[in-house]
Amino acid sequence: MKERGLLIVLSGPSGVGKGTVRKEIFSQNNTKFEYSISVTTRKPREGEVDGMDYFFRSREEFEEMIKNSRLLEWAEYVGNYYGTPIDYVEKTLSEGKDVFLEIEVQGAFQVRNAFPEGLFIFLAPPSLSELKNRIVTRGTESVELIENRMKVAKEEIELMDAYDYVVENDHVEKACERINAIVVAEHCRRDRVAVRYKKMLEAE
Ligand code: 5GP
Repeated sequence: MKERGLLIVLSGPSGVGKGTVRKEIFSQNNTKFEYSISVTTRKPREGEVDGMDYFFRSREEFEEMIKNSRLLEWAEYVGNYYGTPIDYVEKTLSEGKDVFLEIEVQGAFQVRNAFPEGLFIFLAPPSLSELKNRIVTRGTESVELIENRMKVAKEEIELMDAYDYVVENDHVEKACERINAIVVAEHCRRDRVAVRYKKMLEAE
């Protein structure tokens, strides 16, 4: 039996640049991950292609998929449904390939429950580390603005707890490098490798 691939989940707060980072990863021709195309009820944007960017479906079709348990996770985000078809994920992992999901945080929580062995990467906004500088230069910003930023930052930091790794999206290329490095390291993790060696010995 082939060793199962790794389920890689890239998530993080809205507006952090998950889509941009994902596109950059998949534009590199040495990418070894398989992208799981999501289903959505939102309308295609200019240049988006059905079956490539998303599977664009009606709300009725989406709800049918939920009912028939065909989604690994799903969420309603800004008035539209988004979800991950489970069949593709299962099939690709069982072929020994790594599957990459780029999803918002509610969906990532559901995947964490269903696939605790997955690799969960939180893409963090650079503003989190800039925050301290901003606070130091307090004079330049209103108290209200700073308090609001602190609140958002606190929520974002709390979200991180459910993830294995945090990658700051300061530069897209650097963020992609870190993600690729994390995946390489994850494949070398003792608990993952040990299973492979034990199976090898059992087969002797
Ligand atoms: P957009 O409409 O800009 O393409 O995506 C909006 C948000 O939906 C982004 O945060 C993106 O990561 C998230 N998203 C895309 N596909 C899925 C999915 O299958 N499941 C979940 N939960 N979120 C998704």
